[in-house]
Amino acid sequence: MMVGKQQPAPPVCRQTREKMQDYLDQTLPKRESLAVFLHVRECGECHGHLAALQVLFEGLDHMPPVAAPDDFDARVLAAVPYETYLAMAPLRSPRVPVLLEHDSLPTWARSRSVRIVGLIAAAAALAAAATGVAAGAAAWTVAAVGCLPELSVRLQSLSRRVYVATVHRSIPR
Ligand SMILES: [Zn+2]
Repeated sequence: MMVGKQQPAPPVCRQTREKMQDYLDQTLPKRESLAVFLHVRECGECHGHLAALQVLFEGLDHMPPVAAPDDFDARVLAAVPYETYLAMAPLRSPRVPVLLEHDSLPTWARSRSVRIVGLIAAAAALAAAATGVAAGAAAWTVAAVGCLPELSVRLQSLSRRVYVATVHRSIPR
């Protein structure tokens, strides 16, 4: 099935073969797809490659779906060395939507000092508004902006907890 394995294929052939899977999936841009089509028509070796891939893909398409045995997870885990198992901890922890990941908030917003300074600014603005030192609207704006980092961090952590408690429980494992 492997054609031309003895000698390295010319660059144009290698480029064409790299694109064959996408070509068959019809996900190549039109121009590249045409280039593959034209090259394969001229090049016997690449034509052979494409034909082999086509047979392989058709075979895969017609394979019946295979259900994993019930003890699949247990067997995989039993075969994994303990250190690797520990290193896989992030994979085992429940996945949450990207918005609920810590990293989705900018680092500065998660920084403790920014959150505290924001709250102090907000408190100062509200105090100023209450005593009539600052105009109401401006003070409220400062207060709202000041609370934002702390609020977003808290809201995110709360949503994450709710998500893990509700959605994850309903996913069968
Ligand atoms: Zn070729």
